[in-house]
Amino acid sequence: MNNRLKEFCIEKNIEIRFNEMMSSHTSLKIGGAADIAIFPNEQRLPEILKILSEDGIPYITFGRCTNILVLESGISGAVIFTDRLNKITNISNDGNITVQSGCSLGKVLTIAVELGFSGMEGLVGIPGSVGGALAGNAGSYGYEMAELVDSINIVSFDGTTKSLSKSDAGFRYRGSNIKPDSIITSSCLALKVADTLSVKKRTTEFLNEKRLKQPLNQPSAGCVFKNPPETFAGKLIEEAGCKGIRTGGIQVSNLHANYFINNNGGTSDDFLRLMDIVSSKVRECFGIDLDPEIKIIGRH
Ligand SMILES: Cc1cc2nc3c(=O)[nH]c(=O)nc-3n(C[C@H](O)[C@H](O)[C@H](O)COP(=O)(O)OP(=O)(O)OC[C@H]3O[C@@H](n4cnc5c(N)ncnc54)[C@H](O)[C@@H]3O)c2cc1C
Repeated sequence: MNNRLKEFCIEKNIEIRFNEMMSSHTSLKIGGAADIAIFPNEQRLPEILKILSEDGIPYITFGRCTNILVLESGISGAVIFTDRLNKITNISNDGNITVQSGCSLGKVLTIAVELGFSGMEGLVGIPGSVGGALAGNAGSYGYEMAELVDSINIVSFDGTTKSLSKSDAGFRYRGSNIKPDSIITSSCLALKVADTLSVKKRTTEFLNEKRLKQPLNQPSAGCVFKNPPETFAGKLIEEAGCKGIRTGGIQVSNLHANYFINNNGGTSDDFLRLMDIVSSKVRECFGIDLDPEIKIIGRH
């Protein structure tokens, strides 16, 4: 246990917990204990990163834990949760929304729809935080975070803060150049002023389609594999005959084959074994290697 960190958190009234079970945070409901869990506000985050770095404590940042598989072995060091960075701090008439990174994408989308701001419609149903969506350039139905972000504020391992432009962030398909030891604290999203009714209609149509095609209400981490160039991972998995197969408590969804659902108390080992089986079958059938979209995290 690190006393300097603990004393700092107690003195500044920042929630800190020890041996925090990640399964209670992840959308998959899987994951062993993180040594330390910290829930800082934006003001104290730079000082916390400085202490962690100076004391040699590894750390990782999570938003809503909807795109990760945490191993049963747990996480060494600290997990920084962005739950307390959850405010929308400015909305301008011309469509700009400034938002802290822990705010849910769904909350921003709801406000955008109410105000008739267009640009996020296809992202409806993504359960992550704005920071997590930016770090991984989340997208769907042709909409991507990279398209709507104007600037991003980050804090680095040494406590320094910086503003990045869209091009600094180096967005690519399901990724960015934001370093794992940097934390997105807030961002400005630039949406377009449009007709409220048509923004609402498009958003509803996308959501209805997703509800029909994706298991939105079952424990999952979204798409397990990235789409290979010019095809869809889900289609390949389905055509390789993997829909519905299971290892232990984890099953390839019958609705969408790129979703693995935890419908019977599955473990990280079950999940990894199913990933292996599915990728081997796809390789055998099509000669294509699938690349994971989810982040696999845990001590080895
Ligand atoms: C039912 C379901 C549907 C989904 N649909 C989609 C979809 O249509 N499209 C899509 O792209 N994804 C989808 N996802 C996956 C996931 O919701 C998104 O990728 C989401 O944006 C991840 O956000 P998060 O806050 O949960 O990130 P987390 O899972 O908490 O973290 C993911 C990664 O981002 C990093 N990160 C998180 N917050 C920060 C921060 N503030 N600063 C720096 N790094 C950070 C983490 O270190 C980690 O590497 C879906 C998931 C589920 C469960």
